[in-house]
Amino acid sequence: MGSIDTTTVSVIAANLQTILGLNTRVLAVQPVPEYAFLARRGQYDGGKILQALTAVPAGSQFRLAVVAVDIFTPILTFVFGESQLGGIAAVISVFRTKSNNRKTSYDRAAKIAIHEVGHLLGIVHCRAPDCLMGFSNNLDKLDALPLRFCDACEFEAGRLLMHLFGKPGERRRPG
Ligand SMILES: [Zn+2]
Ligand SMILES: [Zn+2]
Repeated sequence: MGSIDTTTVSVIAANLQTILGLNTRVLAVQPVPEYAFLARRGQYDGGKILQALTAVPAGSQFRLAVVAVDIFTPILTFVFGESQLGGIAAVISVFRTKSNNRKTSYDRAAKIAIHEVGHLLGIVHCRAPDCLMGFSNNLDKLDALPLRFCDACEFEAGRLLMHLFGKPGERRRPG
């Protein structure tokens, strides 16, 4: 939604396939979700975007919006992403994740997206130091997260994927 680089979306889709074995269908770029704008904050309400995504007729197990604008939740000044734990809708923002290094920008977007889809599967935050399900609220923390789950979250993801789809994801483990 909004001014989104299509390569970013492709990178996210590729990582959803590689890490979680999820097939993706990338939709055409949509306009900025003005219905979610809160003038008082000059930001967009992630919860309203999730509501709108949830209302889209079924067609896929999960819906993930990648938005160019800054998003917030009522208790936080901003969020990189927001999702329904065990639900169907997630939103991520690339507003604060741009870097002069394109790989860094892509890695950040992929990390936030996989993290939020992890929540959709039902995985909660993880304190393991080597796990993408760790909470991050600034770029230093985000950059320090690996683009993978710890063994425990990996196992849980496999179990939940099996529960949802009746088969393990077709994961392709890189290296
Ligand atoms: Zn989280
Ligand atoms: Zn973990």
